[in-house]
Amino acid sequence: MENASNISENGKCDSSSLIFLGTGCSSAVPNVLCLIQPSNPPCQVCTQSLSLPPQQNPNYRCNTSLLIDYCNDDGQHKYILIDVGKTFREQVLRWFTYHQIPQVDSIILTHEHADALLGLDDVRAVQPFSPTNDIQPTQIYLTQYAMDSVAEKFPYLVQKKLKEGQEVRRVAQLEWNIIKSDIEEPFTSSGLQFVPLPVMHGEDYISLGFLFGARFRIAYVSDVSRFPANTEHGSFGSAVILKTGAGQLDLLILDTLYKTGSHNTHFCLPQTLDAVKRLCPKRALLIGMTHEFDHHKDNQALTEWSRREGILVQLAYDGLRIPIDLK
Ligand SMILES: [Zn+2]
Ligand SMILES: [Zn+2]
Repeated sequence: MENASNISENGKCDSSSLIFLGTGCSSAVPNVLCLIQPSNPPCQVCTQSLSLPPQQNPNYRCNTSLLIDYCNDDGQHKYILIDVGKTFREQVLRWFTYHQIPQVDSIILTHEHADALLGLDDVRAVQPFSPTNDIQPTQIYLTQYAMDSVAEKFPYLVQKKLKEGQEVRRVAQLEWNIIKSDIEEPFTSSGLQFVPLPVMHGEDYISLGFLFGARFRIAYVSDVSRFPANTEHGSFGSAVILKTGAGQLDLLILDTLYKTGSHNTHFCLPQTLDAVKRLCPKRALLIGMTHEFDHHKDNQALTEWSRREGILVQLAYDGLRIPIDLK
């Protein structure tokens, strides 16, 4: 397991890093049915979760989520969370402790599906304690479409003032910031600039990926079935994500659901690898996998593919931490 590799003498990590809090599909891995109604022979990938602790099990996958540990010019660490899914609490218990993450400074949502935001209620668990909700709210960035959905799912997280006679109850304190699904409209979260990358997630739905980093350019696209031409070839500053455009991506983090075939709302491995070839990043890490993927076995096959195609592609895993230059 990779871990923080550049710890300074005072024990503090002096650079930025990406921490993969979750790399699994919406129903997460293990697939519950594989455990409560085991097949004969049983599913190898899911059965592992009963015997291996998560730190040793790359096949234990929570909902896709990325934590950016951003060390700014003053040496201060800001923790930016992309997506807060159904498994958020479990991810905090596993990886915030393991990687010594003390707080969340801001949140960005890719879209409003359950596996991207149903953990919002639990954000209060990582906020300072105040029975009267008298704390600085955490900044959260989302589209208007996602905002409307949040207002229906979590009206108490959106409500600004108590109604007459309403008791105070402790809830997550969030300050909602609307972003556009437009590569021409970057926004800043905890001091780091993000360019939205609108992508199709099913032909009736737009989800956002994000491009960030200056010297080291990273694109994170967790839920995609098709890249619209505008996003792939777009022309905002250096926002082009194609190698032939303004600059090659250093790291592409990309959706892949099943190993074969295709799916109406997500890339499967054939479409994922096609996109990797087209975009031609220096390196790609795959996320969003079901229990079809067996980490070590499938990474071996991907190593062969990488040798053949000249682009390093591997499956990511929960808990993976990659030191990265975000200055
Ligand atoms: Zn299984
Ligand atoms: Zn989704």
